[in-house]
Amino acid sequence: MKVTLLPGDGIGVEIIDAAVEVLEAVATKFGFTLEFDKQLIGGCAIDAVGVPLPEATVSSAKAADAVLLGAVGGPKWDNVAPEIRPEKGLLGIRKALGLYCNLRPMTVSNFTAHLSPLRPEQVAGADLLIVRELTGGIYFGKHDEAHLNAEGVEEASDIELYTVPEIKRIARYAFAAARQRRGKVTSVDKANVLASSRLWRRVVTQLQAEEYPDVELNHFYVDNCAMQLVLNPKQFDVILTNNIFGDILSDEASTLAGSIGLLPSASLGDGTGMYEPIHGSAPDIAGQGIANPTATILSAAMMLRYSLKQTEAASAVEEAVNAVMEQGYRTKDLYSEGLQLVSTSEMAALIAAELLK
Ligand code: NAD
Repeated sequence: MKVTLLPGDGIGVEIIDAAVEVLEAVATKFGFTLEFDKQLIGGCAIDAVGVPLPEATVSSAKAADAVLLGAVGGPKWDNVAPEIRPEKGLLGIRKALGLYCNLRPMTVSNFTAHLSPLRPEQVAGADLLIVRELTGGIYFGKHDEAHLNAEGVEEASDIELYTVPEIKRIARYAFAAARQRRGKVTSVDKANVLASSRLWRRVVTQLQAEEYPDVELNHFYVDNCAMQLVLNPKQFDVILTNNIFGDILSDEASTLAGSIGLLPSASLGDGTGMYEPIHGSAPDIAGQGIANPTATILSAAMMLRYSLKQTEAASAVEEAVNAVMEQGYRTKDLYSEGLQLVSTSEMAALIAAELLK
């Protein structure tokens, strides 16, 4: 199985090395072979070839079974021309691979609940999955940049637009995921105000009735959902939502876990899927060997599950991560007295060793 590795910038390099060590261990254990192809994206690509998304990266990714990405960006490239910013590489690869579905699981274990901004008893055991539409809606609608209108007043606008096929294909991902989990989908919209949300709600409701009657469905307005995530996160199983609401809610949900270094993500389309931690390149700690590789290792587990169809291997990686946490090993972001402080590479080695036990 071919995997394109895109370490990118900052801690991207360290966390991808860590994930590769774990992937090699799990491949040995389960008797399959992974072929890695490392390519450039983001700031390092700008430095090397002048663009954030070289053609070689796109063709490697398209030919691969999956892509594992670290992170892109950093202060070094803050002042480059807008059309070649590192983030353009990320948007470009998502577009090139047609990744319309973003999955962000958020679980809170007993080991990390005390790091959450919520009270541990309120959040321990929370286990939700946000399914976000990634290629439609207001981020990709018509952007009318600031201009003077007929009355001479400056204005700007962005269009939120969804088609029925776009809503159906993302909703199907959410319902299918719910069937593998606890069987409940909460669809989030703003149907009291937005026409696009009223269509969203109608299509999701119809689809559930016609194709997924076994899955429970409820609807929340986005403002209520934002509140409920903080008041009672354990009520959620799968949250299905559009691009902009998903962007905001998934960042909100991620804070509940206590550290950004723990949370993985997957972006899927009809071809190659891409897997990445939800955090950025953390330039403040890059090169120090202290980054938490767990989010990337758990992203690799999602890759094993969704793209490489190695379900048992995926679960084994997740269990190994838990086991190492249970043994008390922590990277700096999660460390407190009484626990064992380890570096990025030590954490990876411990998880790999746990797999090979
Ligand atoms: P960030 O996620 O990189 O860092 C936020 C804070 O969390 C920092 O203090 C950092 O040290 C810490 N952190 C992040 N990941 C960690 C890990 N694995 N282990 C321990 N601590 C970790 O966000 P930022 O500082 O806002 O952005 C830095 C750069 O990353 C910017 O250039 C930004 O554009 C880019 N960025 C990239 C992505 C991506 O590639 N998907 C996402 C977000 C931000």
